[in-house]
Amino acid sequence: MDLFEYQARDMFAAHGVPVLDGRVATTPEEAKAAAEAMGGGTVVVKAQVKTGGRGKAGGVKLAHNPDEVFEKASEILGMDIKGHTVHQVMIAQGAKIAEEYYFSVLLDRSNRTYLAMASVEGGMEIEQLAVERPEALARVPVDALTGIDQAKADEIVEKAGFAPELRAEIASVITKLWDVFVKEDATLVEVNPLVRTEDGSVVALDGKVTLDENAEFRHAEHAELVDAASTDPLEAKAKSLNLNYVKLDGSVGIIGNGAGLVMSTLDVVAYAGEKYGDVKPANFLDIGGGASAQVMANGLDVILNDAQVKSVFVNVFGGITACDEVAKGIVSALGILGDEATKPLVVRLDGNNVEEGRRILAEAAHPLVTLVDTMDGAADKAAELASTGKA
Ligand code: GDP
Ligand code: MN
Repeated sequence: MDLFEYQARDMFAAHGVPVLDGRVATTPEEAKAAAEAMGGGTVVVKAQVKTGGRGKAGGVKLAHNPDEVFEKASEILGMDIKGHTVHQVMIAQGAKIAEEYYFSVLLDRSNRTYLAMASVEGGMEIEQLAVERPEALARVPVDALTGIDQAKADEIVEKAGFAPELRAEIASVITKLWDVFVKEDATLVEVNPLVRTEDGSVVALDGKVTLDENAEFRHAEHAELVDAASTDPLEAKAKSLNLNYVKLDGSVGIIGNGAGLVMSTLDVVAYAGEKYGDVKPANFLDIGGGASAQVMANGLDVILNDAQVKSVFVNVFGGITACDEVAKGIVSALGILGDEATKPLVVRLDGNNVEEGRRILAEAAHPLVTLVDTMDGAADKAAELASTGKA
């Protein structure tokens, strides 16, 4: 989960990273009031959207007094930045910038390590710097066990080429940013720019934090950081039911057991859908091995509530949970859902105890269920039903 800049700022502050005062506003009036509460001096009005390059897009503007804040906030609120509508601005205390630096620490999956990056040439887009002048961006692997201790921080600031008299202070900020990374279970902490102000202090002026959702169970307090307004309601419902669900754009709902099987199901449906006018899968949903009837019902419930869905393809390979259990699950799921089940279901079962599974479904003879023996045949049937579906 990516955080908004103001959330990253608050998190930085909680871990002792130097930041400037910042307040969130959703209307120009609120923005003006915030500026007044901050003393009425020069502030920066900053669009709060989860994308970079806000400055370039006109989403970061200096304002010298509360009336100007009102004006700039009116311009920025509602603006579209790379497909993100601005609903909130942060009114940040203005800094007199002497120099802009760059620092980040992230999970480097391809090298199975953490990686710190730092540069004395911050502010600009770091991807551009990395391409045009890679020597200006220090890249220092960070061991998961020792982390960024004093020695590692010293190595980073030296490699990045910070002036000797600045190194101790920058190193101390870097170790605090590492605290944020570890204690909050982040996969990315980025500060661009980290600045030195004219009066000589070092401040994190922008912050980007990505939290590791797999560590959610350790952080009940992170729940309030979720941007409920922009979460897809079906994904939110699936999450509350503990389902592995991703909403896609097509019309064939997909349920399968095992991530690999579900991914190949998406491919097969997209392929079969070509001849029905480009019918596509509506979602990814992996109910996992050992799924109970209740889990099947929960999965169907989410998928059938997707207005885009015209047919559903249930693709199950019986393993630990045998096909007869899955078949009973489907039958009782349809029982649980009753009148809410309104769209045709194509079921393909294979694997452990397949004959008994097929027999149970055939015997139940639910009017919405079509049993097809092969994955390709079932994908074709589901795509066809979606293309003709009146649901
Ligand atoms: P981004 O464009 O989305 O990365 O947004 P930033 O928060 O990094 O802001 C972009 C640029 O605006 C920074 O690199 C600074 O040059 C400038 N900026 C941001 N805050 C201030 C401030 O308080 N004072 C001044 N003078 N410039 C600022
Ligand atoms: Mn920035």
